[in-house]
Amino acid sequence: MIMTEAFWKTKRLDELNPQEWESLCDGCGLCCLNKLEDWDTGEVAFTSVACRLLDGSSCRCTNYPNRQAIVPDCIQLTPTEVDEISWLPPTCGYRLARDGEDLYWWHHLISGDRETVHQAGISARGRTVSETEVDVDDFEDYLVDWPLTVGQR
Ligand code: SF4
Ligand code: SF4
Repeated sequence: MIMTEAFWKTKRLDELNPQEWESLCDGCGLCCLNKLEDWDTGEVAFTSVACRLLDGSSCRCTNYPNRQAIVPDCIQLTPTEVDEISWLPPTCGYRLARDGEDLYWWHHLISGDRETVHQAGISARGRTVSETEVDVDDFEDYLVDWPLTVGQR
């Protein structure tokens, strides 16, 4: 039997085709959370306050095709941005592939099931509040560390 190595272990990010690129996203929704940056240290902290377009129950963007017209600071990841953004969560498929690491068991490319990222407690599903409901001055009351949680590989 001939075993082929997984594409995320054999290709650089800039070598992926569009389908491979899209599939690396695990659907965790963690990059859709508002973050606060410490002015002095540059340290970035996650909050549980989600982008206005994130559906907190499904953990999906409610207008993905038009998202950048509605949310101009929505990040459209590219290989360059994956290199430059310091705050991508340690579980992010792009960050793992960039660093030459394998994906976790719950990633749909391993499990074959897009629900496992939620079942493993990695995603933002069910634990966010919408930014439409929180004053921006109060975001610091919603600091959370669970987006940095890494489970068993
Ligand atoms: S953090 Fe990474 S894996 Fe999770 S939704 Fe964002 S781009 Fe996808
Ligand atoms: S616009 Fe959609 S993809 Fe972009 S941050 Fe908001 S919910 Fe996430």
